[in-house]
Amino acid sequence: MPNLSSRQSGIPQAATMAAAARARQLRAQGRDIISLTLGEPDFPTPLHAVAAAHAAALQGETKYPPVGGTPALKSAIQAKFRRDSQLEFAQDEILVGNGARQIIYDALTATLDEGDEVIVPAPYWNAYPLIARMSGARPVFLECSMEHGFLPAPQAIAAAITPRSRWVVLNYPNNPSGAVCPADHLRALADVLRRAPHVWIMSDDMYEHLIHDGSAHATMAAVAPDLADRVLTISGVSKTYAMTGWRVGFAGGPRGLIAAMAKVQGQSTGGVSPIAQAAATAALDGPQDCVGEMQAAYAARALRVAAALNAVPRLTCHAAAGAFYLYPSIAGLMGRSTPSGTRIDSDAGFCDALLEEAGVAVVHGEAFGKSPHFRLSTAASDRELDAACARIAAFCSGLSG
Ligand code: PLP
Repeated sequence: MPNLSSRQSGIPQAATMAAAARARQLRAQGRDIISLTLGEPDFPTPLHAVAAAHAAALQGETKYPPVGGTPALKSAIQAKFRRDSQLEFAQDEILVGNGARQIIYDALTATLDEGDEVIVPAPYWNAYPLIARMSGARPVFLECSMEHGFLPAPQAIAAAITPRSRWVVLNYPNNPSGAVCPADHLRALADVLRRAPHVWIMSDDMYEHLIHDGSAHATMAAVAPDLADRVLTISGVSKTYAMTGWRVGFAGGPRGLIAAMAKVQGQSTGGVSPIAQAAATAALDGPQDCVGEMQAAYAARALRVAAALNAVPRLTCHAAAGAFYLYPSIAGLMGRSTPSGTRIDSDAGFCDALLEEAGVAVVHGEAFGKSPHFRLSTAASDRELDAACARIAAFCSGLSG
């Protein structure tokens, strides 16, 4: 086979995808597997969004779209940013991409050079370091403890900043920990970032509407308006409106950065399907009750699953404040063995044994940069979640040593 690029060949497949694929493979072999691996809402896309896509297709919106997004969707995004965060963006300060993942790819590709550094608090969504490495940059991880709510300490960010730092990534509510960052904590981070004018700030707000106590989401550009000329505020419709398959994400940020990102997008995928953009426009502009209903369901599940897991001896599960994940610690189970003799000496080993011996698929914490933990998605029915918790409890109680 001819050579692959040296930059890409060292980059592993995302562990979330690998865990989901393994679960599917075992199911295909007839095994009874409950998969809580993917960050994929278990609700249908709201019907008014589907209807808008249908109408757009019938009306002939089937041609190449503008690379940066249709004017109608950009207007809906402007209204969304104003409504949710009191942020004002002109149309050329907004970019629509094929999912927020592409927005992140565009942003990092447009700004990173070989050897640059991207500061990523851990635990993190694994796309940030993988995409940074694709640009030849080096992710710099900051470990955030469960005891401190999985939030980065301002001093830790200050200590991590070097002349090569290009980005600090903030993602709250967080995937995988469910941590929410209060406005006061963001203000403290802003105080540090104010002293580093060479650093871009990525605020990945994908789960902004999934905050369990219903409190308002705080975002950097709104909390520290003086930093807005280096903040990229990212969101999308995948999680909020159960629209993962439509592939629509977006960002608001400074004009020059947005233009550079559009250039990257123009040479990778071009614009997003206009049919999907029509659906996203309807979701953002239409009735929002579906969002509250889904959010309430995720909040109830987070409580229910955390309670069930905390009842398992040696498992510790924090109360996730948002998103649809839990990130329990298995520190108390390390060194113990399954009845078949497998010794648990890492979270990856725990997840493998849980899958093989108890039929529950979750993702090991190593993939999110913080061990020993596992990520469990609550985007599943109560019946599946209860069954999974019962299996996890039985599996953990069967460990000895
Ligand atoms: N940001 C975070 C934190 C995520 O967890 C995800 C998806 O899992 C995304 C961005 C990307 O979402 P999408 O590409 O579906 O818009």
